[in-house]
Amino acid sequence: MPNNALKLLFVSTPVGALGTGVGGGVELSLYNIAQEMLRRGHSLQILAPIGSKLAQLPIIEIPGNVQIIAQIQERNTPIMMPDNGVLANMWEYARQVQGEYDLIVNFAYDWLPFYLTPFFSKVIAHFVSMGSLSVAMDEIVTQVATNPGTIGFYTPSQAATFALNSQCTCLSSGVDLSLYEFCPNPDNYLAWLGRIAPEKALEDAVEAAQIANIPLKIMGKIQDEDYWQKICQSYPNAPIEYLGFLSTTDMQQQLRSCKALLMTPRWIEAFGNVAIEALACGVPVIAYRRGGPAEIVIDGKTGFLVEPDSVKGLVSAIARLPEIDRSNCRQSAETDYSLEALGDRFENWFRFILKFPH
Ligand code: UDP
Repeated sequence: MPNNALKLLFVSTPVGALGTGVGGGVELSLYNIAQEMLRRGHSLQILAPIGSKLAQLPIIEIPGNVQIIAQIQERNTPIMMPDNGVLANMWEYARQVQGEYDLIVNFAYDWLPFYLTPFFSKVIAHFVSMGSLSVAMDEIVTQVATNPGTIGFYTPSQAATFALNSQCTCLSSGVDLSLYEFCPNPDNYLAWLGRIAPEKALEDAVEAAQIANIPLKIMGKIQDEDYWQKICQSYPNAPIEYLGFLSTTDMQQQLRSCKALLMTPRWIEAFGNVAIEALACGVPVIAYRRGGPAEIVIDGKTGFLVEPDSVKGLVSAIARLPEIDRSNCRQSAETDYSLEALGDRFENWFRFILKFPH
């Protein structure tokens, strides 16, 4: 181990086992950051719910009931925790072993780890994976943000939802580019990727595909079955095909030959890992102009940014796709979203936090 190597403890999201897709993009982010930290010679353990699978990474599986996802709660819903919660169990474990590490990194979008921060003797870095969703979370995140640098966000537009732009570090995201193959000549398909849940507004992409009369391949975890059924019933003749929740390898094989990825989030998407996965394959991204995607897509060069919630805007952008040179998309992923670039940002963040007395 190099002299300046860090001993890191990553604590995962408690909404489900890693590898199931329930956690959304933070699952891939945790995997990529962990992989890159190990490659750099740091030592690392990951605490995650039982059943978690991350190829070859060191996981300590923690039992307990999963946490209710934050996206389906109201802004004023009180903080809830199930009995024998895996969130509390992971943090109890972290408390016991904290002496063996330099830094604990929290990937959970939950109140408890923020609340526990001053009670730990080791420093905790919090990577916040979604925008503001609840009053109680906003309060505790703002309180913890007074410890220099300890809050990390994906993007400035996400940080702005907490009114914390100036007190935080924005870390963006990154992918293992070797897993995504560049495809210069697409087939006549569009793609939509992600958790199938109301905040992602898949219905807009389905409607746009129907109007443009181009088949749409849909991939991702069905998180809300009723919502998915409603879409299928509302658009019985739409040219859509649901392929399931696929592994990165299988997903990119479908994605790379698509003409474009449609990103239609209704909420302020913190980042949108699927955008950079598409770019890595040379696939342009058509997204609403808000949140993370608006920071990732270079309008007219790596895709198009359209008026939020405008299906008409999506359809017009689809017609303009021949204007995009797909090699610019891959180039953008190589420049800004490689594992090396991601690792530099996170390692600098960790070292910055450790400079302060806590
Ligand atoms: N994803 C996947 N298989 C699929 C579809 C999606 O592994 O078939 C992953 C994708 O790689 C991405 C995540 O699901 O990491 C969706 O994350 P994103 O950041 O786009 O949105 P979030 O779910 O965090 O809101």
